[in-house]
Amino acid sequence: MYVSRFGALSLVALLAACGSKQSPAPAASEPKASAAAKTAVDAARLTAADSEPGTWMTYGRTYDEQRFSPLKQINAQNVGQLQLAWHYDLAAAHRVQESTPIVVDGVMYVTSAWSKVFALDAATGKQLWVFDPEVPGAAGIKGCCDVPNRGVAVWNGKVYVGAFDGRLIAIDASSGKQAWSVSTVDDADNYSITGAPRIVRGKVIIGNAGGEYKARGYVTAYDAESGKKVWRFYTVPGEPGKKDGAASDDVLESKARSTWTGEFWKLGGGGTTWDGMAYDPKLDLLYFGTDNGEPWNHAVRSPGGGDNLFTASIIAVRPDTGEYVWHFQNTPGESWDYSAVQQMILADLTIDGKLRQVIMQAPKNGFFYVLDRATGEFISAQPITAVNWATGLDPQTGRPIENPRSRYGETGKPWSAMPGPAGAHAWQAMSYDPLTHLVYLPVIDGGFVFVGEKNFKAKTLGWNTGVDFNAGSLPEDPKVIAQIQTTLKGHLSAWDPVAQKQVWSVPYDTSWNGGVVSTAGNLIFQGTSMGEFAAFQADDGKRLWSAQTHTGILAPPITYEANGEQYVVVEVGWGGAFGLAAGQLARDAQANQGNIPRVLAFKLNGTDTMPAPPPPSDLKLAPPPDEASAKVVAAGKSHYHTFCSTCHGDSAVSGGVLPDLRYSAAMSAPNTWQSIVHDGVRSANGMVSFGSQMSKEEIETIRTYVIHRATQTKSQAN
Ligand code: CA
Repeated sequence: MYVSRFGALSLVALLAACGSKQSPAPAASEPKASAAAKTAVDAARLTAADSEPGTWMTYGRTYDEQRFSPLKQINAQNVGQLQLAWHYDLAAAHRVQESTPIVVDGVMYVTSAWSKVFALDAATGKQLWVFDPEVPGAAGIKGCCDVPNRGVAVWNGKVYVGAFDGRLIAIDASSGKQAWSVSTVDDADNYSITGAPRIVRGKVIIGNAGGEYKARGYVTAYDAESGKKVWRFYTVPGEPGKKDGAASDDVLESKARSTWTGEFWKLGGGGTTWDGMAYDPKLDLLYFGTDNGEPWNHAVRSPGGGDNLFTASIIAVRPDTGEYVWHFQNTPGESWDYSAVQQMILADLTIDGKLRQVIMQAPKNGFFYVLDRATGEFISAQPITAVNWATGLDPQTGRPIENPRSRYGETGKPWSAMPGPAGAHAWQAMSYDPLTHLVYLPVIDGGFVFVGEKNFKAKTLGWNTGVDFNAGSLPEDPKVIAQIQTTLKGHLSAWDPVAQKQVWSVPYDTSWNGGVVSTAGNLIFQGTSMGEFAAFQADDGKRLWSAQTHTGILAPPITYEANGEQYVVVEVGWGGAFGLAAGQLARDAQANQGNIPRVLAFKLNGTDTMPAPPPPSDLKLAPPPDEASAKVVAAGKSHYHTFCSTCHGDSAVSGGVLPDLRYSAAMSAPNTWQSIVHDGVRSANGMVSFGSQMSKEEIETIRTYVIHRATQTKSQAN
């Protein structure tokens, strides 16, 4: 399993931190009086969500986050008749769309980039209302990986969304008007919210993102009616001697602090909870995952070593109080952006003849874990793709047996890591089918070269990773990039969590694909970066149906019933970490598809027509003369990969989300270039001023580098 075929190649993958609020004019957001949006969701309904098979009431459909639907009107026999029933064009930026729609009482609540919420009639797609939290464009810079939102929670007539700028907002489900709003972040520069809230017995649980900035992770519970804070759990220790007055105070001192060294708190420490949570009502345990350590480079973060609890961990707490119950850290001393904030699925599995209450996770580090969810005890784990940072795991404890060469920070040598920072499995949701007993998940097969940043100095804008992205950037020879492309793959995996092995797989030529849903119709649905939305037979992986949507798909599909008919719905929209940062690799991964944010609903014999793809771009490469010295261009390349590449793409190639600078008119106008990059005249669009980070001379070198790249591209095309 520990294949090394990618080993020698420099694979860039993932990442980004950026703005751009460009979007079409917002749709009318006046609430319609006819909106039947009751959302009378309460604890009893949420706990028994499986008894309402037609709904999708919480992020993972049920508290156990299995993303399995008991519906089977659409099944392996008739899925060939699946046709578009309706589509809804989101009045949203052409950025990544990652939302899991909630469907309850006939209404769909779906979100878009920049945390907008749309209420639609689930049967027809007719708009009921739109809520725009009006996140300032300048907030885009504090998010690592585009400006996504993964969805809302619903409870007792209200809809809850975490806005990108750190607000938790309650919206009246009938009118679409704000009921209350609280800021959940005390440091606006280093946090964002991209994940969906969960609700347990009247408390809204929300985390945050910021593990590439100076964030210290925490999860907070708010009273759903009033917005009053109930408890907070910090995932890593703070400054020594200072108590937080939080639920985590005691356990951080007794278990976590001794696992850190140096002045780690000055850069936050990381461990943010930006996605995965689950809840077991019988055990009354709330589970959440935590992100990488911050900065990534462990030698910078915790220079005397240490496991750095509770980064890269699953933590179980009591939902009423935030009281710690157990934790499991899958990557001690994390150094590769191997977060464990990925989705967690609860299920009861028969293992070695015994029924076990398990929690399952495929975190970024490449292993698929099965733990006892009552105690956190390690049961088993196996790699789901090529993994080279660990040669295996201790069978008793699950602690990785590390490859010492993987510690690039300590060795001072580059490390070709598998997986890369995008992980073997990122946020794109997986699904557990209790009928086939298989977990279906989108796997990334690839890697990344880590080079420790020499003389690391924390920046006040953008990423602080302790990793040198210039040294790890892609080669400029298209032939070499084409060769790298042949090694960067993905696959849909059907994984047996008891035997810990793959049962079947669907290989993809691209790595950054969509989440998965499974149904009692013996079906799996998944979209791809190439815009294909497909159905597979759940037991053997046979491809049964597909539609071309003309936009890259990352979001997980869902299914529900309205007026007696089953619908399968997916949101389309390309971007995210890989889409923004991976340059030519990302561009090729979606083959110049369009990027139109849209909700697509399919049913048997639907009668809507798929919108035509947008016309291809007619932008022409017209760089001014490439006259700067090689030394100046090299300086520009370095500054570009320090401040620009995570949004505008590796080596000045856009992955199809933000403007491709090689086509920028400002490239020919040095004063305009300075007004944008130095002065921040497009700050409202997300392109904030970098005047605090770079001199005008340094900013000018970036212009010469972009001219150089545009000239290279033009000559390579001829
Ligand atoms: Ca991260």
